[in-house]
Amino acid sequence: MPETAGRRSNVVSIEITGLNHDGDGVGRLDGLAVFVPGALPGDKVRARLTVSKKTYARAEVVEITKLSPGRIRPPCAVAEPCGGCSLQSMAYEEQLLWKTRAVEDAMARIGGLKEITVRPCLAAKHPMHYRNKVQFPVAMQRGIPVAGCYARGTHEVVPTEDCLIQHQTNNLIVRESLRLISELDLTVYDERRGGGLVRHIMGRVAPGTGEAMAVIVTSIKRFTRGGEFVSALMKAVPGLVGVLQNINSEKTNIILGRETRVITGRGHIDDLFGNDRTGRLRFRISPLSFYQVNAEQAAELYAQALEYAGLTRTTTAVDIYSGIGTITLFLARSCRQAFGIEEVTRAVADAKQNARLNGIENVRFLTGRAERVLPRFLQGRGVKPDVVVLDPPRKGCEEGVLGTVVKMRPGRIVYVSCYPATLARDLAILQRSGYRAVETQPVDMFPQTNHVESCTLVVRE
Ligand code: SAH
Repeated sequence: MPETAGRRSNVVSIEITGLNHDGDGVGRLDGLAVFVPGALPGDKVRARLTVSKKTYARAEVVEITKLSPGRIRPPCAVAEPCGGCSLQSMAYEEQLLWKTRAVEDAMARIGGLKEITVRPCLAAKHPMHYRNKVQFPVAMQRGIPVAGCYARGTHEVVPTEDCLIQHQTNNLIVRESLRLISELDLTVYDERRGGGLVRHIMGRVAPGTGEAMAVIVTSIKRFTRGGEFVSALMKAVPGLVGVLQNINSEKTNIILGRETRVITGRGHIDDLFGNDRTGRLRFRISPLSFYQVNAEQAAELYAQALEYAGLTRTTTAVDIYSGIGTITLFLARSCRQAFGIEEVTRAVADAKQNARLNGIENVRFLTGRAERVLPRFLQGRGVKPDVVVLDPPRKGCEEGVLGTVVKMRPGRIVYVSCYPATLARDLAILQRSGYRAVETQPVDMFPQTNHVESCTLVVRE
């Protein structure tokens, strides 16, 4: 480490020049990368080294000695302790620039892709109050029930009355549930000791219809004064169509237990999803099923995916990692036939139901791991896709999946990604196999956070 005034206490001065994939500031000390959570590019900080490894170090901010021009006072009162929004102290325009740059960097450094066009990240129309799903742990602090995200790197709940990225209905569900816990004298789960009833409050809203549901996660089945709780909650929250109880008696970090029951009203909400570019489809959302948390921006992302897919009435499309079939159904509406492949049985059941709900018949969903299903299903039916859509989780595509896709020789591949690093790695593989990554459109699905979503067009050479 360099000679600095603060050497004894491990305090160093660092100029922050970038952000890493986790949204931590990155600076250099004698060429070594130092990650500094909470610091932004353009900041100069004094920071205490907490981890020193051969290839990198970590440090925590002691003092910001020069503020980045892109820095703003975060609008949320708990932005600093809360682990939820890592970029809230960055002006929104800066966040977008950074997200574009994150994709460009990954393409150049990880993928070695020099020709690809990276378009500027598409801004969210609503950079606040966009999340349609909340899932907050509940804790007792000084005799008062509170809920919110855990403070960064801890299990301490940061009380959050009004989460600025949550849909207001979700905030209302949380606030009213806390009020009722107090009023009805319900106990709150104690992570360390294990006793207490209420563990988590979950809320989901369908922004297109305004329907909402609440799920109260409890440690035991017996919900003391549950009847009073749910009828008061139904009255207090406009749009609430059902309250459910999920029972999780395990000593675990996993939020939901295996058993869910409807206490009052319906066990699902219906959303009307899409925009003028995609058209609209109806989706049924069960408490546990996956659904894009920012529906407005997801529609923008899908519109881009559909444009890249270039569908005609004769196109056969295969959507790999299809979840509850959202992308697959939009594809099906504009092509001859579409197939979805997804490993989670429950999601496939939802996808099939969503197809029925929208009267879409030229679609088939297959259950199983893509790397297994894909080769078999192609041999069996001899399907030759013209377009393949990939929308894998953060870890990217399995090599076997990419290998099989290449063998199927689709004219176009549309790659929807939530993690630029694995996207770039996979694009490089496709590029070595007779394909060319043409263009990427990053779409801001998660304003105020470091998550970077994008959609890429890949064509066969
Ligand atoms: N396209 C969907 C869901 C994308 S999330 C949407 O936009 O809503 C990624 C999905 O891939 C998840 O549903 C996950 O269950 C599924 N998945 C992960 N690994 C898989 C694999 N190896 N084979 C098939 N599906 C997989």
